[in-house]
Amino acid sequence: MSEAKPATLIRPEVRSLSAYHVADASGYVKLDAMENPYTWPEDMTQAWLECLRHVAVNRYPDPTARRLAEGLRQSGGVPQGAGVLLGNGSDEIIQIILMAVAGPEVTVLAPEPTFVMYRQLALSLGLRFIGVPLDEDFGMDLPALRAAIVQHRPAVVFLAYPNNPTGNLFERSAMEEILALAPGLVVVDEAYEPFADASFMADLPRFGNLLVMRTLSKLGLAGLRLGYLAGAPAWVGELDKVRLPYNINVLTQATAEFALAHGEVFAAQTAEIKSEREKLFLALAAMAGVRPYPSRANFILFRCHGQPAGAVFDGLKRAGVLIKNLSAAGGVLVDCLRVTVGTPAENRQFLDALAHVLGR
Ligand SMILES: *Cc1c(COP(=O)(O)O)cnc(C)c1O
Repeated sequence: MSEAKPATLIRPEVRSLSAYHVADASGYVKLDAMENPYTWPEDMTQAWLECLRHVAVNRYPDPTARRLAEGLRQSGGVPQGAGVLLGNGSDEIIQIILMAVAGPEVTVLAPEPTFVMYRQLALSLGLRFIGVPLDEDFGMDLPALRAAIVQHRPAVVFLAYPNNPTGNLFERSAMEEILALAPGLVVVDEAYEPFADASFMADLPRFGNLLVMRTLSKLGLAGLRLGYLAGAPAWVGELDKVRLPYNINVLTQATAEFALAHGEVFAAQTAEIKSEREKLFLALAAMAGVRPYPSRANFILFRCHGQPAGAVFDGLKRAGVLIKNLSAAGGVLVDCLRVTVGTPAENRQFLDALAHVLGR
């Protein structure tokens, strides 16, 4: 009998983590995960299937996905001279960056609340993670950030732009101050760039410590798992050594190339989602006891007064609508819930259910 036990073998920082939890959404109007609700026109689906017919699944993928990387450069406006690295979702890119810098006493920093994987992946790799609370308007607390950066000298700062789960863009001047002050890398996570009308991509040549991260997930390809990172070749070249050789599989490469060639379909869907976002915001703002926060992403964070967020969440779920309850995170998120912008019919169902739950 082996004497191996998790308590003696698994690192304590791993044992104290909780696995990333994903709610079972079967049967619900699914507005919890910032997915694009739209499918493709039938002729596009047929053309895609025809394209997949020619994919050699018996062969290893192109390890650098050269053609796809070139397509992403073009569509993403990556500046000339910048390097590009592809990941199995931007989650994997976060992991690659952190693996490359990991070591004793190495610190990772981000304003919080923010995307939970920065903390989760840092802790799982044995890194120290410092979360600096946002101010009440979800902006950066610059004095606190300055002090934390000077004190902890983070190897990596993550700035989600726009931020998840709050939906706002940080002030550009504040972002630039962090870029100038940080002694290490600053990763600007532009997962919601399709909805934001703002980006730091064009600023890459100005900041030697800037890395810009994007994903196709929120655009409408969450099932593919494809993200990319752009930055100075000196950084990207080092990070590339940590990447697993065949991290982007052949089906993802072929499908993403196909999708980029049909960019107008995604642009139209994105425009529709942005327009629905504004309608949803106004409808929420018009409901008594509900305060939505302006969003530059494909979701809206809102606060309920007079009813605990848990009761609102449960009531919506009973009505068949699944959103995200963020109240348990505490701090500025007390009583906050987050709803993904869906189709007009889904948004209507959500609003009707919310009105019912709130007794209006
Ligand atoms: C959803 C999200 C991601 C994860 O994207 P994947 O490419 O699907 O791994 C990264 N960052 C932020 C801020 C997100 O909200």
